[in-house]
Amino acid sequence: MRYISTRGDQTERRFCEILLEGLAPDGGLYLPVHYPQVDGATLSRWRGLSYADLAFEILSLYIDDIPAEDLRAITHRTYTEAVFGTPEITPLKPLAPGLALEALSNGPTLAFKDMAMQLLGQLFEYELRRRGETLNILGATSGDTGSAAEYAMRGKAGVNVFMLSPHGRMSPFQQAQMFSLQDANIHNIAVEGVFDDCQDIVKAVSNDLDFKRKYRIGTVNSINWARLLAQVVYYFAGYFQATKSDDEHVSFTVPSGNFGNVCAGHVARMMGLPIAKLVVATNENDVLDEFFRTGVYRVRSSTETHETSSPSMDISKASNFERFVFDLLGREGGRVKTMFKDALAEQGQFELNRHEFERIAHYGFQSGRSTHADRLATIRLAYQHYGQIIDTHTADGLKVALGHRDPAVPMLVLETALPAKFAATIHEALGFEPPRPKGLEHIEALPKRVSVLPADVQAVKDFIEQHLSV
Ligand SMILES: *Cc1c(COP(=O)(O)O)cnc(C)c1O
Repeated sequence: MRYISTRGDQTERRFCEILLEGLAPDGGLYLPVHYPQVDGATLSRWRGLSYADLAFEILSLYIDDIPAEDLRAITHRTYTEAVFGTPEITPLKPLAPGLALEALSNGPTLAFKDMAMQLLGQLFEYELRRRGETLNILGATSGDTGSAAEYAMRGKAGVNVFMLSPHGRMSPFQQAQMFSLQDANIHNIAVEGVFDDCQDIVKAVSNDLDFKRKYRIGTVNSINWARLLAQVVYYFAGYFQATKSDDEHVSFTVPSGNFGNVCAGHVARMMGLPIAKLVVATNENDVLDEFFRTGVYRVRSSTETHETSSPSMDISKASNFERFVFDLLGREGGRVKTMFKDALAEQGQFELNRHEFERIAHYGFQSGRSTHADRLATIRLAYQHYGQIIDTHTADGLKVALGHRDPAVPMLVLETALPAKFAATIHEALGFEPPRPKGLEHIEALPKRVSVLPADVQAVKDFIEQHLSV
């Protein structure tokens, strides 16, 4: 399998060439030159597989520069009951006939990002060792991504993580999750500023090409193709659990921000997995819902970006969305470039023509939006009617899913976090705190390992230099 950019650069690259990369050199995102097709016989063969074996089968269709036995060992090291809590890895939790949650949040940081990041940790360690190289991951986080990256990379040979977070602004639980890590290769930096300051510092450091090269600076952001590929697996795993035979269809509702999670659903559907609908659920930051309703993609300014009680979906633009638009527009990279580079820079938005807009239906996409009041009502509903405590992001998903059900097709709502991570809103909805998974009851009391730095690029560069030997 080879990979090309969404912006017209036809240079074909192999999986391990793009594994450690972010954007393609022309500013686009990487996609495979075609989607491997999975027929009924293959689905039947995969139906009985363990999660790790299923992951191996799917990954092998996209990765031909890692020997099969090594790749199988990697998926078996990643998707274990010890790390993800159950033998199914992503078990279904039935709510009502034809309606279930697919649990993606039983990994170490209690959010779905572990599903991909844990694999990325194994792949990075493998590839860096093979090349005899090291990598220093620099990132900014307001919560979920940073902790998932740290738990995936902790103790991995050849990798250091420098994670910036806004000092005193994450929840005590999130701070405890990250700062209690004592691994020598994990560096928590609390920046005296807000999340945007952290992001600006990461950009400034990455734009200093000499520094970047000298200190081998890399990232693990959500546009990484390997992360997306890892997520394709749980759409298949959910499908097999919800059906008995391979002529049945299933729909998914996906709480969405950067369009990474649901883009993996799009890839699974393009491969031939019988998915009826992919329902995109947003919170008040409804860039994507607006697009699927109107064909207008309009990036929001930071003042228009709301801080909500489903904070991991508080986005101003959806970084992975370009991948879907590339497919929607018949893979015309030139046109994608015009839209994402020129129109967005000049007008802050683009609009599909009528013909293009009508094509969205062929891809199964629908959408909906949820608000704080919806979230509280849905958390109550899930508790009272279905006996489940759900987190705020999953609540956005369930709220939108309930408006898009077809009695003939099972609907799976992706559970993207556990309620323990967002205890304050659960308390607001239900009047009590959600339970914590075993072992995390007293996490706030553990010793913390964090350095507080001013919101200053040079201070962060100095810190990195002091903690690395070149
Ligand atoms: C990251 C995240 C999302 C949004 O996922 P995207 O891939 O950005 O659409 C939703 N819920 C939770 C809990 C998350 O951490």
